[in-house]
Amino acid sequence: MTETARGNLFILSAPSGAGKSSLIKALLDKHNDVKVSVSHTTRNPRPGENNAEHYHFINVEQFKSLIEKNDFFEWAQVFENYYGTSKAAIEQQLAAGIDVFLDIDWQGAQQVRKLMPEVKTIFILPPSKTELEQRLNNRGQDSQEVIASRMAQAKSESSHYSEFDYVLINDDFAATLKQLEHIVIAARLELKAQNIRYQSLISDLLK
Ligand code: GDP
Ligand code: ADP
Ligand code: 5GP
Repeated sequence: MTETARGNLFILSAPSGAGKSSLIKALLDKHNDVKVSVSHTTRNPRPGENNAEHYHFINVEQFKSLIEKNDFFEWAQVFENYYGTSKAAIEQQLAAGIDVFLDIDWQGAQQVRKLMPEVKTIFILPPSKTELEQRLNNRGQDSQEVIASRMAQAKSESSHYSEFDYVLINDDFAATLKQLEHIVIAARLELKAQNIRYQSLISDLLK
């Protein structure tokens, strides 16, 4: 009999357009024991984005009231909007042995690292500036103004890559996805989790 080990918490950060959301979606499609935390945000939904699926879309007053109620695990202002991760959702899933991904910015990553030092953090870099701009344009969901502002912030966001445990260059999508899967799998094989999962086997072998 194997016991359920606690799930691992991962953070995926990157400059906008580097491929975070696409990589997380592809990972979730392949692994049903991995989930992504759905953040709250005050930004407007993009075409095709649904409430409670991509984000919980709320207004600034609602966001501030959640801050006051201490409902957020972390929150930050990114590109003039507020974004935050609620505590309840992630704690339940980790306790049930599910691996949880946070798609959050570097400010949020700094807060989570302080609260949960065991968090595994991953930074995604694009293969070039030109490719990053092309991806933001190809995504076709942000105005030229928003794209220009995100490109302008890409340098300062990218400069935080060195605070992360893993750095992936998202050039070939399938290759990057494989690398991400390897990180998730390796984390599951760490001593602490294996000791719980294989408690009875290990005690039997050591009798
Ligand atoms: P994207 O960069 O194209 O994925 O654009 P989004 O509008 O989805 O995200 C904007 C920024 O907010 C990104 O840097 C996200 O990582 C960050 N973000 C999203 N959700 C959260 C959150 O819950 N907390 C924090 N701290 N940052 C978040
Ligand atoms: P983020 O969530 O980091 O802002 P997205 O996942 O929305 O980025 O990706 C931005 C755009 O780039 C999307 O249109 C996506 O399909 C595309 N994209 C992501 N990864 C790659 C890749 N390795 N090669 C080419 N296009 C990519
Ligand atoms: P977008 O508006 O393109 O969906 O997201 C822009 C940025 O906000 C991305 O870098 C994304 O990772 C970040 N972000 C999204 N949700 C959260 C969140 O809950 N907390 C923090 N700190 N950042 C977030």
